[in-house]
Amino acid sequence: MNLHEYQGKEVLKRYGVAIQEGIVATTLDEAVAAWNQIRETTGTDFVVVKAQIHAGGRGKGGGVKLAKNLDQLKEHAGNILGMMLKTPQTPGGMEGPGKLVRKVLITEDSYRLGFDQCKEYYMSILMDREKKCNVIIYSTEGGMDIEKVAEETPQLVHKEYIDAVHGLQAFQCRKIAFNLGLSGAAFKNMVAFVEKLYAAFLGADASLFEINPVLHTPDDRIIAVDSKVTLDDNALYRHPDLEAMHDPGEDDPTEVEAKSYDLNYVALDGNVGCMVNGAGLAMATMDIIKLSGGEPANFLDVGGTADASRVEKAFRIILKDPAVKAILINIFGGIVRCDRVAQGVVDAYKNMGNIEVPIIVRLQGTNADLAKQIIDESGLKVQSAILLQEAADKVRAVLAN
Ligand code: GDP
Ligand code: MN
Repeated sequence: MNLHEYQGKEVLKRYGVAIQEGIVATTLDEAVAAWNQIRETTGTDFVVVKAQIHAGGRGKGGGVKLAKNLDQLKEHAGNILGMMLKTPQTPGGMEGPGKLVRKVLITEDSYRLGFDQCKEYYMSILMDREKKCNVIIYSTEGGMDIEKVAEETPQLVHKEYIDAVHGLQAFQCRKIAFNLGLSGAAFKNMVAFVEKLYAAFLGADASLFEINPVLHTPDDRIIAVDSKVTLDDNALYRHPDLEAMHDPGEDDPTEVEAKSYDLNYVALDGNVGCMVNGAGLAMATMDIIKLSGGEPANFLDVGGTADASRVEKAFRIILKDPAVKAILINIFGGIVRCDRVAQGVVDAYKNMGNIEVPIIVRLQGTNADLAKQIIDESGLKVQSAILLQEAADKVRAVLAN
């Protein structure tokens, strides 16, 4: 589960991590009230208006704006609230439709002591699956484009692996502060920042923390200006307070619908829809689609009971994606019999009327031959295959047309 920036910062603050303070607002009036309140604590009129959506790169899309007075605050908050914000990370990128902004975070201007004297670092925490431990990734080159830094100057991106048994050690925090070129009060503050950040990561059962930028102010404070927090869904039961932060407005509507049918569906960017039983087979199917020159449009595990009604629901979900140019149904009949699934596919196809997208069905296992016969004799524009390679070849042929 992903959190908004303001929610992520709330989690950090609970663990004593220094953050850029702010107040969330859903209306212009609330934004003005927030401005007044921040003005009292900071003594300046400067605030930042930050769109709260689940996507990074908001600054690039005009979703992060500095306001230097009340008029500018009203202007920026008015523009950003309700806008369709496009960033490189919203669906379809800068060419896509963007995401609706329902909330803004009004923050103190953390750079107010001198923008040019501020330094922006990058820091993230996640699990390194190969090393089987958590890793802190950090760089002096924070701000907006860490992907570019990693590509062009990988030597500037450092990694600190954390032993699962011993945990984060004090010397590791000092090493991070040292590698970031810090000394004096900033060094001390960075050590504390890293310690608390890691405690927050563990405490919240997070799977990702990305703080970009971590700001080093001219008065040597170290603060989290942005936060991207992903929580481990499997641990949410331990954190009802965090679970309550879930924002349904950010969910993919098709994924929500699929969930209500108990279908395990994840939307992807490609052109070949897949309907598969079993997560492992679904992954293998996505691989074979790639190898045959297509790109999977989704991950979809229909589970063990692929009857006609489930197959039909899955069809409907897949076909909601206009990018889908072919559908590959790959079912292994172990518990479920292939002929039943084949009948389900034929029934669903007939029920749904005009499906324009070519469908390739590969059924393997119990009664596979009978299943192929049912499909071939149905008179529908559904192609059948028994071998996976055969199915992949048919997908390739369909895409080439
Ligand atoms: P992102 O674009 O979605 O990653 O949003 P961020 O919260 O990281 O903000 C983007 C950029 O806005 C930062 O890298 C800063 O350059 C700038 N920014 C953020 N907060 C402040 C602030 O308090 N004052 C000023 N002057 N700039 C800020
Ligand atoms: Mn950022």
